[in-house]
Parts: sequence; structure tokens; C-alpha cells
Amino acid sequence: PPLYMQRYQFVIDYVKTYRPKKVIDVGCAECRLLKKLKFHRNGIQLLVGVDINSVVLLKRMHTLAPLVSDYLQPSDGPLTIELYQGSVTEREPCTRGFDLVTCVELIEHLELVEVESFSDVVFGYMAPGAVIVSTPNAEFNPLLPGLRGFRNYDHKFEWTRAEFQTWAHRVCREYDYSVQFTGVGEAVGHWRDVGFCTQIGVFQRNFDGINQSMSNAESLEPSMYKLLYKVVY
Ligand code: SAM
Repeated sequence: PPLYMQRYQFVIDYVKTYRPKKVIDVGCAECRLLKKLKFHRNGIQLLVGVDINSVVLLKRMHTLAPLVSDYLQPSDGPLTIELYQGSVTEREPCTRGFDLVTCVELIEHLELVEVESFSDVVFGYMAPGAVIVSTPNAEFNPLLPGLRGFRNYDHKFEWTRAEFQTWAHRVCREYDYSVQFTGVGEAVGHWRDVGFCTQIGVFQRNFDGINQSMSNAESLEPSMYKLLYKVVY
């Protein structure tokens, strides 16, 4: 399967194993991962997508609309899907209290200074139970035919495994998480030691969740995000 499908499948397998109830996909673009998670719910009750680009969200959000079959075969309990236009570098009260945040091929689209805000917002403020971050592994690039420079014109950087892991370990120290590294898209033969095409960090929070009264008080804060779509099954 193509690499993007392998990334989505990685998240689906994680959800199957750890059964998060509230999942938020940041930088969700065309909502492809959200659509897959809708079909492989495994007990998800709240599914949220965020992207800074409202045009891509508006173009594809109808793909999340309920199908007749969703009503004919009611699945495992109610499901709410919400899509927001907003930036992951800003603190948004409604993004707190999630079990899982997914950031698939997002961070390399941020300037390095924005990556700092991203870390602070996601790990320090949203403080979810787990975070999955995927990003290109620069060491794999020599194996990509015809590639000069970055894999996409909009990439601000592409990290080696050491660079990604340095950032991840620092985040873990600062915000009290643990991380494990893996990836998808493996090289073969003597190229194996360049690592995966896409590198992935799976972060687990080391402390108990933010307490509910605190998040209730904070929900009085004005909202930074704009709600573009909401459906309740
Ligand atoms: N995650 C999707 C996937 O794997 O199919 C798409 C990733 S796409 C390469 C990167 C997305 O991140 C774009 O849709 C872009 O608009 C979004 N993005 C860039 N900066 C952002 C920010 N500060 N906050 C939220 N989304 C952002």
C-alpha cells in the first residue's frame, strides 16, 4: 500500500489496541484519516479534526457525513465529529481532555519557532494521554528517485532520526511524557540502516489527566478556533 495509507493504518492499529475515546487529528487536511477512523471506530466517541486551511476542510468535509448504512446498522454508541479551522500553535480550550492527538506529516510544515509553540500547546496545554507524530526521515531521501531538496515545496525542514529524537526527548523532559520511535516504509537490503521513510514518535503521558474542574473553568476562555462542521450520529 502507498505510504500515506501505511501511516493511517499505523494510527488505526494504535486505536484498535489502546481504544482512545476522544481523538483529535491536527493538520487533518482532507479528513482522510478521520474518515478511516470513522469506519474503524473501536469505541471512539469524539472525533475532531483541525486544520489552518479552511479551504481544504470545506472541500472534503462532506465525506464525513453519515451514510444510510450508519442508521440501518447503528454502531457502537453515539459518535460526534467536529471540524475546526485553527492553528495548532494556539491554545484552544476545546482541545483539552483528549486521549489521543495525531499529527501526521504536520510539523515539517511549521517554521522551527512554530514547532516550539506546537510542543507547548500540544504537550503542555492540550496534555492528551498520547500523541502520535509522523514526519519525513531525511536520511531516507537519497533513496527517493529524482528528489532534489525536500519532499514537498511547503516543507520548512526534514529531520534526520537524531534530530527528531532530540526534539522528542526534550519534549518528554519538559512535559513529562515517554516516547517510542518507529516508522513506516522500510528500505531493503544494505539500505536498511537509513531507517524508515516516515519516522513516527509515539508519546505517552506519564501523569494522570488534567482534572475536570480545571478544564471546565478554562472552557470559559474565548475560543480561538472556528467550528466549520459538526455531526452527531
Ligand atoms: N495529516 C494529513 C494527512 O496525512 O493526510 C495532511 C497533512 S498536510 C501534508 C499538512 C497539513 O497541515 C495541511 O493541510 C496544512 O494546512 C496543515 N497545517 C499547516 N500548518 C498548520 C497549523 N499551524 N495548524 C494547523 N494545521 C496546519
